[in-house]
Amino acid sequence: MIRFEHVAKRYPGGIQALSDVNFSLEKGELAFLTGHSGAGKSTLLRLIALLERPSRGQVMFDGRNVGKLARRHIPYLRRRIGVIFQDHRLLSDKKVFDNVALPLMIAGVSYGEIKRRVRAALDKVGLLEKENMYPPMLSGGQQQRVGIARAIIGKPPLLLADEPTGNLDPEMSAELMNYFLQLNELGVTVLIASHDLELIRQLGRRVLVLKDGEMIDDLPSRQIYTGD
Ligand code: ADP
Ligand code: ADP
Repeated sequence: MIRFEHVAKRYPGGIQALSDVNFSLEKGELAFLTGHSGAGKSTLLRLIALLERPSRGQVMFDGRNVGKLARRHIPYLRRRIGVIFQDHRLLSDKKVFDNVALPLMIAGVSYGEIKRRVRAALDKVGLLEKENMYPPMLSGGQQQRVGIARAIIGKPPLLLADEPTGNLDPEMSAELMNYFLQLNELGVTVLIASHDLELIRQLGRRVLVLKDGEMIDDLPSRQIYTGD
């Protein structure tokens, strides 16, 4: 589904955030991306989400070189990617309901269908009773969950999450990870940037490790003991 070929990213000002990164993520995989702060995790996710373009190399999504994509094709591709940002990026002057509904409104889904799906998504993240609130009235963890509902509302085949458990308590983190696993069972490809090593270890999935912009490790998922 995703393939990086010799990808480098240098930001204006000369910071080399990624250098010569090569990896691929198959459809249906769930993997973690880890590394110290500043290692390049967010940059890697932003390249996949078409929020940045590589300085060198190729980022392939569904067999297409996204760096060469015509501008008019970008919205279509973005709709196929759900992104959970570290800083939520919610619209503070729009109600929780409208924040979550946004991707469906852009996609032209009918109001009845929007209402049903937004309620289902808010229920899933435990925030149904907050639908008429504005994001600044919510706690950090609640805002994070609104961001999660918005990311999954369009049923994207690819979900990217940047430190999704950063603002959540352990119980909520475990619930969120369970939800990611459920989505993955349904066929959604999931890539999670996290430095929560405990969480990563618990799940025993594939782990990609970045250090100073280089991919220094790619650990395959452990065989899960089933008791048979
Ligand atoms: P991580 O998510 O692993 O903490 P980032 O991808 O955010 O790492 O950052 C990698 C490097 O790129 C850091 O040195 C960071 O300061 C720099 N960086 C990130 N975003 C920008 C930007 N928009 N402009 C300039 N430098 C940036
Ligand atoms: P519908 O009833 O039309 O299938 P819902 O919004 O009620 O739609 O969601 C049904 C289920 O689909 C939920 O359990 C939700 O977790 C799951 N789901 C959410 N995102 C995706 C996705 N990207 N791909 C597949 N299923 C998804």
